[in-house]
Amino acid sequence: MIKVNENYFNLEESYLFSTIAKKVNEYQIKNPNKKVIKLGIGDVTLPLIPEVVKAMKKAIEEMGQKETFRGYGPEQGYDFLREKIAKYDYQDKGIDIDLDEIFVSDGAKCDTGNITEIFSKNNKVAITDPVYPVYLDTNIMCGRINKEKPVVYLPCTKENNFMPELPKEHVDIIYLCSPNNPTGATMTKGELKKWVEYAKNNKSIILYDAAYERFIQDQNTVHSIFEIEGAKETAIEFKSYSKTAGFTGVRCGYVVIPKEVKAYKENGEEVEVRKMWNRRQCTKFNGTPYITQRGAEAIYTERGRKEIDKNIEYYRENAKIIKEGLEEAGFNVYGGINSPYIWLEVPNGKSSWEFFDELLENVNIVGTPGVGFGKCGEGFFRLTAFGDRENTIEAIDRIKKYYKK
Ligand code: PLP
Repeated sequence: MIKVNENYFNLEESYLFSTIAKKVNEYQIKNPNKKVIKLGIGDVTLPLIPEVVKAMKKAIEEMGQKETFRGYGPEQGYDFLREKIAKYDYQDKGIDIDLDEIFVSDGAKCDTGNITEIFSKNNKVAITDPVYPVYLDTNIMCGRINKEKPVVYLPCTKENNFMPELPKEHVDIIYLCSPNNPTGATMTKGELKKWVEYAKNNKSIILYDAAYERFIQDQNTVHSIFEIEGAKETAIEFKSYSKTAGFTGVRCGYVVIPKEVKAYKENGEEVEVRKMWNRRQCTKFNGTPYITQRGAEAIYTERGRKEIDKNIEYYRENAKIIKEGLEEAGFNVYGGINSPYIWLEVPNGKSSWEFFDELLENVNIVGTPGVGFGKCGEGFFRLTAFGDRENTIEAIDRIKKYYKK
């Protein structure tokens, strides 16, 4: 008899965004004339920049010619893209990263999920709460986290400025996400130094998700964890072009695993993690499409960078409109400066889902209940700056009118 992976039954039954979609759908069927504005899901709305479109069109043309056609590419990504990543994202910032430490992929969701595979099921995992749900769920799916082997939550609350504190016990795998989804909190250099030190002392590994790095404006934080001394021995970094360059539908990101990052066999023998990931990718991944990688490369041209900056600026302005508007309406608001996410405290002691319903039914706005990102998200709510300007302004006007009275 064929058996299933029972770990899947340890997952929460419904995925956050499908529950939201269901509720919104039901509301729209009952109220077809209401204009519902969606500031919930973290998807971008601006189209690809012209420089990317140009590069991808050229790549398609190449694929249509016998002389320039490309079949299977390198599993780790083409050198033309890895060279740009190494130069612009690392070497120009004083970080020494080699091409063979960079692995191009189809996005950070797959990478953060797949990486779980190369580590032992017996590792103890620490995850900030609240955070992007993929870290927890993928560890549950593979059986590393369950009732017998619970996750170590690192609470991020308004009392600690949404900054995780070091665990009292030993952990092996530490997920950090900065700027954080959903709180928008960004870890300072000082905070990160503490974690790098902890990981070094405990022979642990930090899985550092920097998917929102491009939104950072503060000087006292980092665009890469490898800016922190010692991080090259203790951290794996995940980056994504999704929010940077509107690649949510194109699919491209990358992982950086420095040669110095080591893990251990049961017998204590040291292993280079980068080599294991390379083995995994060569076996299970046949490379990111050539056309996609040419598109990603175009982000690094002078014009590409200017065009991307313009888009990021647009979302930043949206974030400012939301943040200031909510503050005017009397809400306690966090995030929204180094991040496209605005994290607001639900007023009057209501739950996240009660507030979701209230906002949907009375103001016709969709956001994301904080509790969907973890227990510590209860009593909070996430709005995103990825909407278009007109809708963002209208949404905030509605909120101001409704809550100011
Ligand atoms: N990491 C975080 C923290 C995210 O919020 C998201 C998407 O919302 C991702 C990764 C997924 O990125 P990608 O589109 O590259 O898979």
